[in-house]
Amino acid sequence: MERINKTWILRRRPEGEVSDGDLELVEGPVRALEEGEVCLRTLYLSLDPTNRIWMSDREQYMPPVAIGDPMRGGGIAVVEESRFDGLEPGDIVNTGLGQWSLYQVKPGKEVNKLPVLPGVPLTAYMGPIGMTGMTAYCGLMYIGQPKPGETVVVSAAAGAVGSMVGQIAKIQGCRVVGIAGSDEKCEWLTKTAGFDAAINYKKEDVGAALDKHCPDGIDINFENVGGEIMDEVILRLNDFARMPLCGLISSYNATEPVPGPYNFSMLLMRHVTLKGFIVTDFMEHFAEGRQAMASWLLEGKLKFATDVVEGLENAPTSLERLFTGKNLGKLVVKVSDAP
Ligand code: NDP
Repeated sequence: MERINKTWILRRRPEGEVSDGDLELVEGPVRALEEGEVCLRTLYLSLDPTNRIWMSDREQYMPPVAIGDPMRGGGIAVVEESRFDGLEPGDIVNTGLGQWSLYQVKPGKEVNKLPVLPGVPLTAYMGPIGMTGMTAYCGLMYIGQPKPGETVVVSAAAGAVGSMVGQIAKIQGCRVVGIAGSDEKCEWLTKTAGFDAAINYKKEDVGAALDKHCPDGIDINFENVGGEIMDEVILRLNDFARMPLCGLISSYNATEPVPGPYNFSMLLMRHVTLKGFIVTDFMEHFAEGRQAMASWLLEGKLKFATDVVEGLENAPTSLERLFTGKNLGKLVVKVSDAP
């Protein structure tokens, strides 16, 4: 049976927000498999802020997507055909560093078969027990090193990573304050995810709200955003605070160099440990992280939200949801039906 593929190709580097013409959806036949390869049909595509970084040629942690290449992205897929021992049609896998396409042919050794956890939806494998969950778990546990009674502040708190960070910190016995961009998100954080307080940075004076909700200062700043929000948090860090620097989403669409942070000297004055990290730095801890997150999920201690957009053709425009804050929780594109 000939399979017709649809693939998003990067045609030019976006200036600011992704716009029409930056990517093109092309159709073509899927090639025959060679020994050791599998043909995957994408079920869900994970949309991540890093997709935007990979579209640019700014200095980054891995090579950007080349112009003319398929757009890079992770996701969950089903094996349609296999010439690889250990994977067979019908298996559900994590595509690893896959692409924005309906089908993809990959070496079988580059994809991981997902464990079947009864009662856990497929989208959780991109959220709490996927890469965003590992980012939250490893960044918080190994860099943040939370201790009971400490105060943790997390930005982009109602997003995929942030919402997990706050809940893991609560499980560790911390006081948790989230910063997010709407009343609806703040309500979800305090009422559903169990945060102690949430600050709507679009409506409130962030500094004054931090003073109110963090009367004993801040011991851990899990940083996802950068810019003015980060500056306000830095100003309130305690002596020997830790700062896992996970992301700086406020600057990913910037076309000019971004100024600041203005309160950088506080890192010196308060003996702060700041560590930038990429989740793959912690690969040796993924098995432990997945086990912990899966247990908490099954025990009902972790709530997670998924923002599902329908259709591969909507992937580029949906990426903007991450930058306008339209998503609550993990943003995914449903590409095709699970078997
Ligand atoms: P989210 O689900 O958190 O979505 C991004 C959120 O960021 C939006 O919902 C929006 O929420 C907020 N945001 C966007 N622009 C701004 C802005 N200018 N100012 C303040 N908030 C903004 O995405 P992820 O959980 O996938 O990623 C969160 C962060 O973690 C990103 O910085 C990302 O790059 C980083 N990351 C890093 C990894 C690593 O290995 N280091 C791995 C995965 C993610 P709101 O409505 O609150 O504004």
